[in-house]
Amino acid sequence: MSKDKPDQELIVSRQVLSIPQRFSTGPVMGRFLTELRDNKRVMANKCPKCGRHQLPPREVCAICRVEATEWEELGPEGRIRDFDVVYYASPDPLTGKTRETPYVACWADLDGTRGDAPLWHLLDAPDPSVVRRGLRVRVVFADERHGRMEDIKHFEIIDDSVGRGAGEAQGGSK
Ligand SMILES: [Zn+2]
Repeated sequence: MSKDKPDQELIVSRQVLSIPQRFSTGPVMGRFLTELRDNKRVMANKCPKCGRHQLPPREVCAICRVEATEWEELGPEGRIRDFDVVYYASPDPLTGKTRETPYVACWADLDGTRGDAPLWHLLDAPDPSVVRRGLRVRVVFADERHGRMEDIKHFEIIDDSVGRGAGEAQGGSK
């Protein structure tokens, strides 16, 4: 045995762990997801003190720190507050799949929203150049719903300025 040991080769064992897990959504998020699945409604809860909506709903108003017990339906139409056009997609952490690019995701203020509670989701916009702030959109629900955020398929553009439906979009933002 030599004392001048050569650099030791490190043996690496690569493993991908897959751990099936189940979490309770709780009464508040559970109601939100149940409404998506069973009634195709986007429900926010409302603070009894300041009147702001929370979407997705949370048990307590983050500002007043009181229980938000009232519920109201928002949308399903609304207006784009902000959006991202994604050209380089990373795999979805929930599905492991990578979306085709470019795709658009947006924050939309649903009609009836009080306060700062936009809903984030994908936007069906084959031509991203038509997307702009203020554009009218509508929530489109998936045909098969399971009580998940994916029960909302995406937003669709309903703004007359870009034609009915993104498929008819003329291109060129205004
Ligand atoms: Zn409040």
